[in-house]
Amino acid sequence: TTTPHIVVLGAGYAGMMTTKRLIQQLAPHEAQITLVNKHNYHYQTTWLHEVAAGTIDVNRSRIMISDVINTKRVHLVQDTVERIKADEKKVLLQNGELDYDYLVIGLGFEKATFGIPGMDEHAFSIQSVDTSRMIRDHIEYQFSRYKTEDNPSDDILTIIVGGAGFTGIEFVGELAERIPVLCKKYDIPRKKVKIINIEATPTILPNFDEELLEYAQRSLKARGVQFRLGTMIKEVKKDAVIVGDDMEEIKAGTFVWTGGVQANRIVGESGFELTKGKVNVDTMLRAPGHDDVFILGDCAWVMNKDTGRPYPPTAQIAIQEADVCAHNIKTMIQGGTLREFTFDDKGTVASLGGSEAMGTVFDGHKLYGLQAKVMKHVIDDRYLFLLGGPGLVLKKGKFRPF
Ligand code: FAD
Ligand code: NAD
Repeated sequence: TTTPHIVVLGAGYAGMMTTKRLIQQLAPHEAQITLVNKHNYHYQTTWLHEVAAGTIDVNRSRIMISDVINTKRVHLVQDTVERIKADEKKVLLQNGELDYDYLVIGLGFEKATFGIPGMDEHAFSIQSVDTSRMIRDHIEYQFSRYKTEDNPSDDILTIIVGGAGFTGIEFVGELAERIPVLCKKYDIPRKKVKIINIEATPTILPNFDEELLEYAQRSLKARGVQFRLGTMIKEVKKDAVIVGDDMEEIKAGTFVWTGGVQANRIVGESGFELTKGKVNVDTMLRAPGHDDVFILGDCAWVMNKDTGRPYPPTAQIAIQEADVCAHNIKTMIQGGTLREFTFDDKGTVASLGGSEAMGTVFDGHKLYGLQAKVMKHVIDDRYLFLLGGPGLVLKKGKFRPF
């Protein structure tokens, strides 16, 4: 018999941690492992709002895959996945194809636009290192444009963020820190720059703890963020968004959409059965009808048996799923009992820019301000430690409180 071939698609949280665990649990003669990713680096999706605002350098948010994955053990393929042919156990790439015995899909998310006109053409989104860097550059370009045009309108400087979920809130928090720096750099008074966060529901962070969301809103307002709540975005134009039932037009030089995410469209296009755009995997994280295909992270719909609702798409869950997936592949190769996925919720902490943050940890204990910020850095550094040990924490970690 030949050595089974495990192919992992996507080097995000799910793909990286699965690969890491497979290396630890399987000897080279037991399995061949291939990791396919669009880039030769892994990025911290959870830091991309900072890249987009320009509060951290791009390189801080990314790690060369070969720095943390042993390339003698894992075959790295830098290519773009185009389609999965599960019936033929094949993956089609832009520049070739791969056969597998076991497949792990961790291709992550893309922006959900809900068919809103103009969204594809005119909205920026915080999706990858490349799209985030473009937001940073675009905002700075608007500042320099303002200084060189004859009679420029102040609207050029307005930044609208559409959606006040965690991504939108964390992003406006970073903008609140970044804009004063840009104002100084370009000699523009701070009051000329508007940061407007528009949200369809009556509150920011719908369904989150009320005290914490009030804290967040107060902190952001104090640093100049304006909120338009209960206001639905209906259309996006080149230099404006149209909102509400009366189709009010709000002009802006930058529009960033943080209104929701969906699974990478490749899973649906490859013929996997979808529930609200994601693959409804079994408790062992396998695709229906395909016991050799595991789907993790933002591509998977995993039911929480206690609430009867699916788990939200988070890095925390993707990392925990990777452990179960690696264990189950090992078990399928060596024999034994498969493990079911259960989520161990460690809480949610959101940064609000600078030394501000808030969140819940350990069964709902609330944290505010600097204490929450330190906790956020502990969470970030813990992941880096799991991925690359103390060396990676020293190189890319966030152990400083500011
Ligand atoms: P991803 O991390 O998105 O990784 C997917 C990988 O697949 C990427 O490396 C990508 O390059 C690669 N890829 C995609 N398409 C292809 C292709 N066709 N071919 C080859 N490679 C491909 N969650 C938390 O738990 N805590 C947080 O604090 C938090 N903060 C967040 C902040 C922001 C700004 C955002 C946007 C999200 C945040 N999330 C957070 C959510 C979290 O980032 C996602 O749930 C998580 O990234 C999902 O992990 P994943 O492994 O499924 O996919
Ligand atoms: P989300 O779906 O959580 O939030 C999107 C927001 O946009 C919602 O509040 C929604 O009401 C609003 N919206 C949708 N359509 C709109 C419209 N037409 N007009 C105005 N508002 C509209 O998306 P997200 O914030 O990108 O988060 C995605 C996932 O990533 C979530 O699971 C989230 O928990 C996770 N995340 C976690 C953290 C953290 O833990 N610190 C940070 C960022 C993201």
